[in-house]
Amino acid sequence: MQGLMQDWPLLCHRIIDHAAIYHGGREVVSRSVEGPIHRTTYAELRRRSLRVAQVLDRHGIGLGDRVATLAWNTWRHLESWYGILGVGAVYHTVNPRLFPDQIAYIVNHAEDRILFTDLTFLPLLEGIADKLETIELFVVLTDEAHLPQTSLRNVVAYESWIAEGDGDFAWKAVDENAAAGMCYTSGTTGNPKGVVYSHRSNVLHSLAFNTPDMLGIAARDRVMPVVPMFHANGWSLAFTAPMAGATMILPGAKMDGESLYELLDGERVTLTAAVPTVWLGLLQHLEASGKMLPHLKRVVIGGSACPRAMAETFENVYDVEVIHAWGMTETNPLGTVATIKPDYAGLEGDALFDIKETQGHPPFTVEMKITDDAGNPQPWDGETFGRLKVRGPAVAKSYFKGEGGEILDEAGFFDTGDVSTIDPNGYMHITDRSKDVIKSGGEWISSIDLENVAVGHPDVAEAAVIGAAHPKWDERPLLIIVAKPGQMPAKEDIVDFMRGKVAKWWLPDDIVFVDEIPHTATGKILKTALREQFRGYRLPSADAAE
Ligand code: AMP
Repeated sequence: MQGLMQDWPLLCHRIIDHAAIYHGGREVVSRSVEGPIHRTTYAELRRRSLRVAQVLDRHGIGLGDRVATLAWNTWRHLESWYGILGVGAVYHTVNPRLFPDQIAYIVNHAEDRILFTDLTFLPLLEGIADKLETIELFVVLTDEAHLPQTSLRNVVAYESWIAEGDGDFAWKAVDENAAAGMCYTSGTTGNPKGVVYSHRSNVLHSLAFNTPDMLGIAARDRVMPVVPMFHANGWSLAFTAPMAGATMILPGAKMDGESLYELLDGERVTLTAAVPTVWLGLLQHLEASGKMLPHLKRVVIGGSACPRAMAETFENVYDVEVIHAWGMTETNPLGTVATIKPDYAGLEGDALFDIKETQGHPPFTVEMKITDDAGNPQPWDGETFGRLKVRGPAVAKSYFKGEGGEILDEAGFFDTGDVSTIDPNGYMHITDRSKDVIKSGGEWISSIDLENVAVGHPDVAEAAVIGAAHPKWDERPLLIIVAKPGQMPAKEDIVDFMRGKVAKWWLPDDIVFVDEIPHTATGKILKTALREQFRGYRLPSADAAE
């Protein structure tokens, strides 16, 4: 016997319909790439998305065609996404921080037909134009007056281009399992691989992650996604915020502390989201200027581990609740959120931050397990490390064009490549990437835990830990530090600071000071480059052991 309820496909463009009908006057405020602050509403944004869809349709773009976007978070980018979705095509976000050759590779691999770009990236595109084999048209997200001379062929200004349509267009009806979006993994090893979201996965993911114990965004919220739409599906905020009818504030190209503060304060943002390096910039700006954050209530921090000192500063100094989240491109992208369940209600001080330091617990729709290398489940005791595996309706089952082969185990779980513990209440704590964990005398040392403790030292701006070869222990931790401007902490002083905060045998064998730590295109510490840079590094303890 079948259920007798309606078949109402879970389509992304129904989200903008909902926002326009029930929250039509709510604003979408952007810092435009041209400079001024721009204001529109969900109702107007939907009208213009319909024009995008109409003009794409006239161009012959339809079901399953890929359309690339190389763009900052602005209203035009958002309109483009919904227009692309509404014609049954697939938005493919391209991360401009990738190497130009990688950009050419993924655009060709995805066979993108049209590319929407911000003005910022015209020089980049001019440099690789002859390598882009499938692009028929470049749509520059600006108006005619701001369109500069360019050597690119087939270029139009977005505003003139959408003016060719009148918006009298109906969204295409597509299957909810049809492809909606594409995002390539950062590809620290090998070529980037394409993750393909479906309408259904985007909608279910947004519903699941907007429940009260997850992001819990309400119509009264004023949400600023600083995380770029090109980073891991923009953490889905382009769907979650309109679904909730929340005001959106989009920071455009400027993500320095001062520019972010201007919007946080001027636009009375209540919830914002970004990777730790972005918040480092904001906190430094606040510290130097003595400004406070009276409107901001919650900050979502993910993409890499939120250092404990950062969480403490936000909560204790600025009275902003930290929501630590974990996820990855392959999980649409959120997987867990560290909000406080009743099991931990009433915790204070260090005990509370111990929980906030974990990556949290999943909503309904995400299942987790940890296993050893042979695939045997490991206990949820909060101490035993294992490979973290996940499954659910918004988790990748394979990569575009079958790259990377079979990626699920027999039970349908995807191996995240992360190593974690899970505690009896289902809180997951990442201890490392499986590639980065330091193997010392057959035991594992968490590089992330060491980094988190080291950045708590008042003179340390950023810290990274890698394994350095050791004749007796195989690997031992080497701590690499960027000191705060004007500070020159002593090595012994840092080790003393760390003592007692991690197991004694985890303490780094040596510390080096550098001016800069390399980052990936999504703001994570680039461990592969550090390992290359310090390949053959002789630890003093290695000399002593021989
Ligand atoms: P990406 O697909 O580029 O977003 O990278 C996903 C990876 O980032 C995950 O597999 C983790 O290794 C790392 N990551 C994301 N969020 C966190 C977090 N809160 N703490 C530690 N690592 C994280």
